[in-house]
Amino acid sequence: MNNLLPIFLKVENMRCLVVGGGNIALQKIQQLLACKAEVTVIAPDILPEIISLPVNIHKKKYNYTDIQDSKVIIAATNSSKVNVSIYQDANKKGIPINVVDIPELCSFYMGSVFHDNDLKIAISTNGMCPSFAVYLKNHFLKISKGLWGTSLDKIANKRKKIIHKLKKYSDKKESMEHVVENSFNKINNNNEMIGKVYLVGAGPGDPELITSKGLKAIQNADVILHDALVHPHLVFDVNPLARKVYVGKRKNSHSIDQESIHLLMKKEVVKGHNVVRLKGGDPFIFGRGGEEVISLVEGNIPFQVIPGITAGIGAASEFGIPLTHRDMATSVLFITGHDASISKKQDWGLLSKLKTTLVFYMGTSNVSLIVQELMENGKSADTPIAIIQNATLENQNIIISDLVSIMEDVKDVVIFTPAIIIIGDVVANYKISQNYLHSDSIDISQLLAGVEFNY
Ligand code: SAH
Repeated sequence: MNNLLPIFLKVENMRCLVVGGGNIALQKIQQLLACKAEVTVIAPDILPEIISLPVNIHKKKYNYTDIQDSKVIIAATNSSKVNVSIYQDANKKGIPINVVDIPELCSFYMGSVFHDNDLKIAISTNGMCPSFAVYLKNHFLKISKGLWGTSLDKIANKRKKIIHKLKKYSDKKESMEHVVENSFNKINNNNEMIGKVYLVGAGPGDPELITSKGLKAIQNADVILHDALVHPHLVFDVNPLARKVYVGKRKNSHSIDQESIHLLMKKEVVKGHNVVRLKGGDPFIFGRGGEEVISLVEGNIPFQVIPGITAGIGAASEFGIPLTHRDMATSVLFITGHDASISKKQDWGLLSKLKTTLVFYMGTSNVSLIVQELMENGKSADTPIAIIQNATLENQNIIISDLVSIMEDVKDVVIFTPAIIIIGDVVANYKISQNYLHSDSIDISQLLAGVEFNY
């Protein structure tokens, strides 16, 4: 028997306590933050990912006074003794408590949630089979065809007018019933089972640099269409059940043409599948995201674009290069360095004159041409230049020089791709900060431990 009382709790600006600082705690914190809760985290060891979130951090052992004023408590510690005492303390004070994965120590559960705009459907199986709830959530996603949330928006607008216009309660109720029914008829009569496409930016390389929204889209995907420059952890580990299709293109080795990618997305979506089109960096920066969006619009396919950190920004951050700077660069330009004809495509005079940072993508085979054009058009020969390879990955590397010396400096060097070229005075900042820069290396096993698989 499921005797749980379903309620939707307003936690906005309410003090919610999470005891624990590991990956499970991180997931719960993200759920609470998504509902705008004021989150306090207590644990002797806390992951850097948690510390970087807008939460109150107390690096210490749990003590019963910590639960004061908390409206909700989540315990995710690895000590059953601590979990039990948090549970007992919370119960004494009548504060709702969830000890993760221990139903006997929970006064509430966090169910599986279907969420689309203002619509939220929470599903509980009373702890009997969470996969059942996840299945139902995905089922809602399919039968809603990605349209319930927007439908609710439209109905809510009509409701305002109806309430204003009609006097009698029974008339209002009857009109609203019609509006809702019509709206559902429209969705249901659309016989095609429409899923949704998510154009997701995977970030520059390091899989931890994806957004939590992007990660969620991957977790919920039926099919993942992925590019060459996406980290394998994001493609294969996060959602083992999704079908994976490689649609990447690297220079001179196009695996599949753009039109076929569009067709593949449409084919999957009309089967009711959620498709994640996973792209390196940001989908709208040299990612052909624009073309894909147009083809989706033409096919009446619901889609969402989830941005990612573009390689230029990732590369600059890793090496302490601020792309804009009050004294050195008032703007930053992302430019394609692809194709021998760039010399004709670019306004080199303008590029050379601006007090800007130039960030070239796909430019490694044209370095000589780029520096030559810039110098010929008046850019100072001592302007610093950086070539950053495999940015944000463990084997990342930087070559530093200036416009006049770079070709000599790289003459015996193989420049690995992918690589970003940054040109401008801001590059000099790397030398200032290089001895203090420490990137965390990526521990994939840690990442995996934090991922909740939808089995
Ligand atoms: N949409 C991507 C760019 C795709 S174009 C983004 O927003 O980042 C591919 C180019 O991106 C590569 O030729 C290279 O110039 C750059 N790039 C992608 N990943 C990179 C990385 N990890 N390090 C350096 N450059 C990278």
